[in-house]
Amino acid sequence: MKILLFLIFTVGLIVGSFINTYSYRIIRNKPVIWDRSRCPCCKEIIKPLDLIPVFSYILLKGKCRQCAEKIGFRYPLSEIFVGLVFSAIYLKVGLGRELLPYLFISSVLTAAVFTDLENMIIPNSLVFFGFWGGVILKLFVGTAGVEDMLLGSIAGGMPLLLIGILSRGGMGGGDIKLAAVMGLILGWKLVLVALFISFCVGGLVGVMLVFFGLKGRKDCIPFGPFLAVGGHFLHTFG
Ligand SMILES: [Zn+2]
Repeated sequence: MKILLFLIFTVGLIVGSFINTYSYRIIRNKPVIWDRSRCPCCKEIIKPLDLIPVFSYILLKGKCRQCAEKIGFRYPLSEIFVGLVFSAIYLKVGLGRELLPYLFISSVLTAAVFTDLENMIIPNSLVFFGFWGGVILKLFVGTAGVEDMLLGSIAGGMPLLLIGILSRGGMGGGDIKLAAVMGLILGWKLVLVALFISFCVGGLVGVMLVFFGLKGRKDCIPFGPFLAVGGHFLHTFG
Protein backbone atom coordinates (compact mmCIF):
# COMPACT_ATOMS: atom_id res chain seq x y z
CA MET A 1 0.00 0.00 0.00
CA LYS A 2 2.68 2.48 1.07
CA ILE A 3 5.09 1.30 -1.59
CA LEU A 4 2.37 1.61 -4.21
CA LEU A 5 1.55 5.12 -3.01
CA PHE A 6 5.20 6.09 -3.28
CA LEU A 7 5.36 4.54 -6.74
CA ILE A 8 2.27 6.44 -7.92
CA PHE A 9 3.64 9.67 -6.47
CA THR A 10 6.90 9.10 -8.37
CA VAL A 11 5.03 8.39 -11.60
CA GLY A 12 3.16 11.66 -10.96
CA LEU A 13 6.47 13.53 -10.66
CA ILE A 14 7.64 12.10 -13.98
CA VAL A 15 4.34 12.83 -15.72
CA GLY A 16 4.48 16.35 -14.26
CA SER A 17 7.91 16.78 -15.80
CA PHE A 18 6.58 15.62 -19.19
CA ILE A 19 3.65 18.02 -18.91
CA ASN A 20 6.07 20.89 -18.26
CA THR A 21 8.10 19.98 -21.31
CA TYR A 22 5.00 19.47 -23.44
CA SER A 23 3.39 22.80 -22.57
CA TYR A 24 6.66 24.71 -22.94
CA ARG A 25 7.23 23.28 -26.41
CA ILE A 26 3.68 23.35 -27.79
CA ILE A 27 3.32 27.06 -26.97
CA ARG A 28 6.59 27.83 -28.73
CA ASN A 29 5.72 25.66 -31.75
CA LYS A 30 8.60 23.29 -31.06
CA PRO A 31 8.48 19.54 -31.72
CA VAL A 32 6.96 17.88 -28.68
CA ILE A 33 8.83 14.59 -28.96
CA TRP A 34 12.11 13.44 -30.51
CA ASP A 35 13.95 16.48 -29.31
CA ARG A 36 16.41 16.79 -26.43
CA SER A 37 15.64 19.26 -23.67
CA ARG A 38 17.78 22.37 -23.78
CA CYS A 39 18.35 25.24 -21.42
CA PRO A 40 16.23 28.13 -22.77
CA CYS A 41 19.10 30.52 -21.97
CA CYS A 42 22.35 28.92 -23.20
CA LYS A 43 20.68 26.28 -25.48
CA GLU A 44 22.93 23.60 -24.03
CA ILE A 45 21.44 20.09 -24.10
CA ILE A 46 20.43 19.13 -20.56
CA LYS A 47 22.02 15.86 -19.40
CA PRO A 48 19.68 13.01 -18.38
CA LEU A 49 21.01 13.24 -14.82
CA ASP A 50 19.82 16.85 -14.65
CA LEU A 51 16.33 15.95 -15.85
CA ILE A 52 15.22 13.97 -12.80
CA PRO A 53 12.06 15.61 -11.46
CA VAL A 54 12.53 17.69 -8.30
CA PHE A 55 15.87 16.04 -7.34
CA SER A 56 17.83 17.66 -10.15
CA TYR A 57 16.34 21.01 -9.24
CA ILE A 58 17.51 20.62 -5.65
CA LEU A 59 20.95 19.27 -6.65
CA LEU A 60 21.49 22.13 -9.12
CA LYS A 61 20.14 24.63 -6.56
CA GLY A 62 17.67 25.84 -9.18
CA LYS A 63 20.31 26.88 -11.72
CA CYS A 64 21.44 25.65 -15.14
CA ARG A 65 24.66 23.62 -14.83
CA GLN A 66 26.21 25.39 -17.83
CA CYS A 67 25.20 29.04 -17.61
CA ALA A 68 23.82 29.28 -14.05
CA GLU A 69 20.57 30.80 -15.37
CA LYS A 70 17.79 30.35 -12.84
CA ILE A 71 15.32 27.52 -13.48
CA GLY A 72 11.75 28.56 -12.71
CA PHE A 73 10.39 27.33 -9.40
CA ARG A 74 7.20 26.40 -11.24
CA TYR A 75 8.91 23.28 -12.63
CA PRO A 76 9.51 21.37 -9.39
CA LEU A 77 6.32 22.83 -7.97
CA SER A 78 4.15 21.53 -10.81
CA GLU A 79 5.89 18.15 -10.68
CA ILE A 80 5.07 17.85 -6.99
CA PHE A 81 1.52 19.02 -7.73
CA VAL A 82 0.96 16.21 -10.24
CA GLY A 83 2.57 13.75 -7.81
CA LEU A 84 0.12 14.81 -5.10
CA VAL A 85 -2.89 14.69 -7.43
CA PHE A 86 -1.90 11.18 -8.57
CA SER A 87 -1.53 10.09 -4.93
CA ALA A 88 -4.90 11.57 -4.00
CA ILE A 89 -6.62 9.82 -6.91
CA TYR A 90 -5.00 6.52 -5.94
CA LEU A 91 -6.05 6.93 -2.31
CA LYS A 92 -9.61 7.52 -3.47
CA VAL A 93 -10.15 4.90 -6.18
CA GLY A 94 -7.45 2.41 -5.19
CA LEU A 95 -6.36 -0.04 -7.85
CA GLY A 96 -9.84 0.06 -9.39
CA ARG A 97 -10.51 0.03 -13.09
CA GLU A 98 -11.04 3.77 -13.14
CA LEU A 99 -7.55 4.52 -11.79
CA LEU A 100 -5.81 4.79 -15.16
CA PRO A 101 -8.57 6.81 -16.88
CA TYR A 102 -8.63 9.23 -13.92
CA LEU A 103 -4.85 9.65 -13.83
CA PHE A 104 -4.97 10.22 -17.57
CA ILE A 105 -7.65 12.93 -17.55
CA SER A 106 -5.99 14.72 -14.64
CA SER A 107 -2.75 14.85 -16.64
CA VAL A 108 -4.56 16.22 -19.68
CA LEU A 109 -6.31 18.82 -17.51
CA THR A 110 -3.03 19.90 -15.91
CA ALA A 111 -1.42 20.33 -19.33
CA ALA A 112 -4.43 22.44 -20.37
CA VAL A 113 -3.97 24.64 -17.29
CA PHE A 114 -0.36 25.38 -18.20
CA THR A 115 -1.01 26.23 -21.85
CA ASP A 116 -4.19 28.17 -21.02
CA LEU A 117 -2.56 30.26 -18.29
CA GLU A 118 0.55 31.02 -20.29
CA ASN A 119 -0.94 31.53 -23.71
CA MET A 120 -4.75 31.48 -23.43
CA ILE A 121 -4.99 28.39 -25.60
CA ILE A 122 -5.88 24.76 -25.12
CA PRO A 123 -4.12 23.12 -28.10
CA ASN A 124 -6.20 20.97 -30.42
CA SER A 125 -3.50 18.33 -30.28
CA LEU A 126 -4.02 18.06 -26.52
CA VAL A 127 -7.80 17.69 -26.89
CA PHE A 128 -7.24 15.11 -29.63
CA PHE A 129 -4.81 13.17 -27.43
CA GLY A 130 -7.22 13.40 -24.50
CA PHE A 131 -10.12 12.20 -26.63
CA TRP A 132 -8.47 9.13 -28.14
CA GLY A 133 -6.57 8.29 -24.98
CA GLY A 134 -9.83 8.56 -23.07
CA VAL A 135 -11.77 6.36 -25.51
CA ILE A 136 -9.10 3.66 -25.50
CA LEU A 137 -8.67 3.66 -21.72
CA LYS A 138 -12.40 3.64 -21.02
CA LEU A 139 -13.03 0.81 -23.47
CA PHE A 140 -10.15 -1.43 -22.47
CA VAL A 141 -9.53 -0.56 -18.83
CA GLY A 142 -12.48 1.43 -17.51
CA THR A 143 -16.05 0.43 -16.95
CA ALA A 144 -17.99 2.62 -19.39
CA GLY A 145 -19.48 1.68 -22.73
CA VAL A 146 -19.77 3.79 -25.86
CA GLU A 147 -23.19 5.11 -24.87
CA ASP A 148 -21.92 6.33 -21.48
CA MET A 149 -19.02 8.08 -23.14
CA LEU A 150 -21.26 9.78 -25.70
CA LEU A 151 -23.69 10.91 -23.02
CA GLY A 152 -20.81 12.16 -20.85
CA SER A 153 -19.31 14.16 -23.72
CA ILE A 154 -22.62 15.81 -24.47
CA ALA A 155 -23.23 16.61 -20.79
CA GLY A 156 -19.73 18.10 -20.54
CA GLY A 157 -19.55 20.00 -23.82
CA MET A 158 -23.12 21.17 -24.34
CA PRO A 159 -23.42 23.65 -21.42
CA LEU A 160 -20.20 25.41 -22.46
CA LEU A 161 -21.20 25.35 -26.12
CA LEU A 162 -24.50 27.05 -25.22
CA ILE A 163 -22.67 29.67 -23.16
CA GLY A 164 -20.30 30.22 -26.08
CA ILE A 165 -23.20 30.75 -28.48
CA LEU A 166 -25.25 32.92 -26.11
CA SER A 167 -22.28 35.09 -25.13
CA ARG A 168 -21.06 35.29 -28.73
CA GLY A 169 -17.65 33.75 -28.19
CA GLY A 170 -17.30 34.24 -24.43
CA MET A 171 -16.27 30.62 -24.11
CA GLY A 172 -13.27 29.36 -26.05
CA GLY A 173 -13.54 26.40 -28.41
CA GLY A 174 -10.73 24.69 -26.51
CA ASP A 175 -12.70 24.91 -23.25
CA ILE A 176 -15.78 23.39 -24.88
CA LYS A 177 -13.83 20.50 -26.38
CA LEU A 178 -11.92 19.90 -23.16
CA ALA A 179 -15.16 19.74 -21.18
CA ALA A 180 -16.49 17.18 -23.67
CA VAL A 181 -13.38 15.03 -23.18
CA MET A 182 -13.76 15.42 -19.42
CA GLY A 183 -17.33 14.17 -19.72
CA LEU A 184 -16.22 11.22 -21.79
CA ILE A 185 -14.01 10.02 -18.95
CA LEU A 186 -15.98 11.13 -15.89
CA GLY A 187 -19.44 10.21 -17.17
CA TRP A 188 -22.45 12.53 -17.29
CA LYS A 189 -23.21 12.71 -13.58
CA LEU A 190 -19.71 13.51 -12.41
CA VAL A 191 -18.97 15.93 -15.25
CA LEU A 192 -22.06 17.99 -14.42
CA VAL A 193 -20.89 18.25 -10.80
CA ALA A 194 -17.39 19.12 -12.04
CA LEU A 195 -18.82 21.85 -14.29
CA PHE A 196 -20.84 23.22 -11.41
CA ILE A 197 -17.69 23.45 -9.24
CA SER A 198 -15.80 25.03 -12.16
CA PHE A 199 -18.45 27.73 -12.57
CA CYS A 200 -18.58 28.49 -8.85
CA VAL A 201 -14.81 28.77 -8.48
CA GLY A 202 -14.42 30.53 -11.84
CA GLY A 203 -17.15 33.04 -11.00
CA LEU A 204 -15.68 33.74 -7.58
CA VAL A 205 -12.15 34.24 -8.92
CA GLY A 206 -13.48 36.37 -11.81
CA VAL A 207 -15.33 38.67 -9.41
CA MET A 208 -12.22 38.97 -7.23
CA LEU A 209 -9.95 39.77 -10.19
CA VAL A 210 -12.32 42.54 -11.31
CA PHE A 211 -12.75 43.78 -7.72
CA PHE A 212 -8.98 44.10 -7.18
CA GLY A 213 -8.59 45.80 -10.55
CA LEU A 214 -6.46 42.99 -12.00
CA LYS A 215 -8.92 42.44 -14.83
CA GLY A 216 -11.54 44.61 -16.50
CA ARG A 217 -15.18 43.61 -16.76
CA LYS A 218 -14.77 42.73 -20.43
CA ASP A 219 -11.42 40.96 -20.15
CA CYS A 220 -11.22 37.31 -21.05
CA ILE A 221 -10.33 35.02 -18.21
CA PRO A 222 -9.14 31.56 -19.28
CA PHE A 223 -11.66 28.95 -18.19
CA GLY A 224 -9.41 25.91 -18.61
CA PRO A 225 -7.89 26.17 -15.11
CA PHE A 226 -11.35 26.19 -13.55
CA LEU A 227 -12.37 23.14 -15.54
CA ALA A 228 -9.28 21.48 -14.12
CA VAL A 229 -10.17 22.57 -10.60
CA GLY A 230 -13.62 21.06 -11.03
CA GLY A 231 -12.24 17.85 -12.49
CA HIS A 232 -9.48 17.43 -9.91
CA PHE A 233 -11.75 18.28 -7.02
CA LEU A 234 -14.14 15.58 -8.09
CA HIS A 235 -11.97 12.59 -8.48
CA THR A 236 -9.82 13.46 -5.51
CA PHE A 237 -12.33 14.65 -2.94
CA GLY A 238 -15.77 14.15 -4.50
ZN1 LIG B 1 21.87 27.36 -19.40
